[in-house]
Amino acid sequence: MVRGVAGRVAVVGAGLAGLSAALELHDRGYEVEVFERSRLLGGRATSFEVGGREIDNGQHVFLHCCDRFIGFVERVGMGHALHEQARFDALVLARDGTSSRLRAASLPAPFHLLASFAGYAHLDVGGRLRVARALASAALGPGPDPQLTFDQWLERNGQNAATRRAFWDPFFIPALNAPFDRVSAADALFVISTAFLRDASAARFGFSTVPLAHVAAAAAQQIGDVHRSTAVLAIDVDDRGVELRLPDERRARFDAVVLAVSPRGTAKLLGRPERFDVRALETYDPYPIVDVHVWHDRGALGFDFAAVLDSPLQWIFEKSEGYVCCSISAAGEVLTVPTAALEQLAWQELCAFVPGLRGGRVVHAAATRNPEATYLPRPGAQRTLQRTSSPRVAIAGSWTQTGWPDTMEAAVRSGAAAAEWVAHG
Ligand SMILES: Cc1cc2nc3c(=O)[nH]c(=O)nc-3n(C[C@H](O)[C@H](O)[C@H](O)COP(=O)(O)OP(=O)(O)OC[C@H]3O[C@@H](n4cnc5c(N)ncnc54)[C@H](O)[C@@H]3O)c2cc1C
Repeated sequence: MVRGVAGRVAVVGAGLAGLSAALELHDRGYEVEVFERSRLLGGRATSFEVGGREIDNGQHVFLHCCDRFIGFVERVGMGHALHEQARFDALVLARDGTSSRLRAASLPAPFHLLASFAGYAHLDVGGRLRVARALASAALGPGPDPQLTFDQWLERNGQNAATRRAFWDPFFIPALNAPFDRVSAADALFVISTAFLRDASAARFGFSTVPLAHVAAAAAQQIGDVHRSTAVLAIDVDDRGVELRLPDERRARFDAVVLAVSPRGTAKLLGRPERFDVRALETYDPYPIVDVHVWHDRGALGFDFAAVLDSPLQWIFEKSEGYVCCSISAAGEVLTVPTAALEQLAWQELCAFVPGLRGGRVVHAAATRNPEATYLPRPGAQRTLQRTSSPRVAIAGSWTQTGWPDTMEAAVRSGAAAAEWVAHG
């Protein structure tokens, strides 16, 4: 059996998964070329100019436990652009003006978090105990049945409307980007235990202080051969290598290929995925995220970011003084709302939750809509592996099997795993 492939490798897709695979292969001595159909680098984690302002495709955060993503950004020389909290500390605002924080205490996990519930004003004592019991069950209970949804798990673990509103919805809808009845309990419990229960510093929030495309550009610079605005139309694989079909009837030959595109794009490029032992690509559903970007004349908000309860906005981030980004996950309901109405809704809601904005003026606004922000296989379906039946073909993408939900961390991990398949089989 052939173990690994030597020589030249094509990577299709310059999102974080493709860039991670390309960098890993480059570091192992491969000659790598990346093909990206967009003029932008970074895929879903990118940025672009709107009205002379460079904005992210949508607000992206990571947690301190996303060690492979952080390592990737450091490896491309952009570690200085990542801001991380000194400890997990999340401000949560209610419409009646109540504000409260969930903040890690200086105790070992999981007591660091349980202690923070003691003063959490958005839940009464009964509610805090309910959440604490569910977290204890997540930490100590047996692994859930693979068919069980997170919604069913919450129900079985005694969660009610009040605990969902004040804790589960604001923290886990953005983390999972899907309604809880579409997420498997196993995936949700992975997030709970990785972020909240294993290590007191794991849930520290972080974000990039530079527009996201700059991170991708730094990666591309290290890889060298990155062809933008160059879609790969099809691939032909035989015993001797892989041929890419490119626009204008061009063709390019390589020894192996990493496909780092969407589930649907992967199916299209493989033609008959079962020939490569790649299955179930049709079981992935896309989930949307909408962000509303608002520039105003009222100066600093006085906080970096906050969750807003009972509001379609979900989370608000101060990107810089006078610029707020409102992030709406699992955004099926607002995806088709016209831009002007979205911008008006965002400003009304911002003024309702942040008194300092009242009486201010919107200087500029924009909306970014991503109907396919993340992908999720239906509960019970297996995620796609990075390996295939051919050592010449590997699959990468945040939606593939990494153990992580569809995130930047998953993208970087999947790229490394795909490179490993090409290199070692
Ligand atoms: C608005 C929004 C907010 C998000 N928030 C967060 C967050 O807070 N934290 C987090 O961790 N994650 C977040 N995510 C998810 C995160 O962005 C993704 O998990 C990750 O960036 C996906 O990387 P990827 O490389 O797997 O895929 P993509 O980024 O989708 O990359 C695939 C690339 O392949 C290219 N391509 C497709 N077909 C072809 C072809 N035929 N030829 C050549 N190129 C092709 C595409 O143009 C694209 O650039 C968010 C996503 C969105 C959209």
